[in-house]
Amino acid sequence: MRGMGAIFVGSDIYRLPAFAPPHPLAIPRAMLVADLCVALKWLDESYYVESPMAASEALCRFHSPDYIAALRRAEAEQDLPREVREATRIGADSNPIHQAVFRRPAISAGGALLAASRTAGGGTVFAPGVGNHHGRRDRASGFCFVNDIALGILRWQDLGLRRIAYLDLDAHHGDGVEEAFAGDPDVLTVSVHAAGAWPHSGGASRPAQGVWNFPLPNKTNDSEYARLIEERVLPLIASHQPEAIFLLPGADALADDPLGKLGLSNNAIWHAVRAVRPLAPRLVVGGGGGYNPFALARCWAGIWAILTGRPIPEILPDAAQEVLRGVNYFRAAGRNPPPHWLTTLRDAPNSGPIREEFLRMTA
Ligand SMILES: [Zn+2]
Repeated sequence: MRGMGAIFVGSDIYRLPAFAPPHPLAIPRAMLVADLCVALKWLDESYYVESPMAASEALCRFHSPDYIAALRRAEAEQDLPREVREATRIGADSNPIHQAVFRRPAISAGGALLAASRTAGGGTVFAPGVGNHHGRRDRASGFCFVNDIALGILRWQDLGLRRIAYLDLDAHHGDGVEEAFAGDPDVLTVSVHAAGAWPHSGGASRPAQGVWNFPLPNKTNDSEYARLIEERVLPLIASHQPEAIFLLPGADALADDPLGKLGLSNNAIWHAVRAVRPLAPRLVVGGGGGYNPFALARCWAGIWAILTGRPIPEILPDAAQEVLRGVNYFRAAGRNPPPHWLTTLRDAPNSGPIREEFLRMTA
């Protein structure tokens, strides 16, 4: 039975300090999700698969060899010449060179390749460390060094799958994945994101290319989101008749995120995951953005519960609360977290009116 066979792909590499405050990624993320699921007794060894590191040749299925060589060099030398930084954006913008700047994205890519291979015959994988949707063939962008999602989709294609759907719920436009597959109408890319947010693209759809974008107004609520998912997103995906779906549940779409502009509770994301799941026999759920570790871990642990058919408890057991109490979050909110960040998975629903602005923007 599908669901019972879901696997969780993770890696201890995510425990290694990479980004430093005030970089938004200087928080526990994928491993915190794993730790929370272990504390909930939802993740014994039978579910967990360690992500392998993708070889350079595998990374070059999408990336240019020069770019991958630069990423390796950045890790080895902890620096790059100025002209290489400028060309590759490694060590530029918000893409700092860190101690695992090659290994960490190469392991995320390995996780995506493993997830695609493991689901070739059907099934479900959750890989919360996978989700670098801004990565480009020959440059880093938006904290993303390697486009693990594009590599996973290409692996599906190399294994003979043709019709694939990518649904990006991250608060930012999934520009790198869209660009990678815009020339291939068999790969549907759908991005739901905050209008006017970085990277300031994704304002329009190009149906002939299989590219759909749904920019949403600030403070989009759960009711508006459910309407968009049910009336626009699900029919698009269903009519594409995908053999496989890659879903990116970026936690920066949550109201509690310090960078995101949307106003969702985690119920909205969970609803989308439940609704998308039956639309294809193969599902890989990645991670993506999310810069509040409490909001991210609670939302994504809930996704693992959904994928494995478990009920979500109203009050967390002590061991799980202990994991959340141990979180080190450098922002002011981390010094005095509100009780629900520590005691529950489920947010209070943020239901609300369907606003005129929402209707106009999603018409
Ligand atoms: Zn994002």
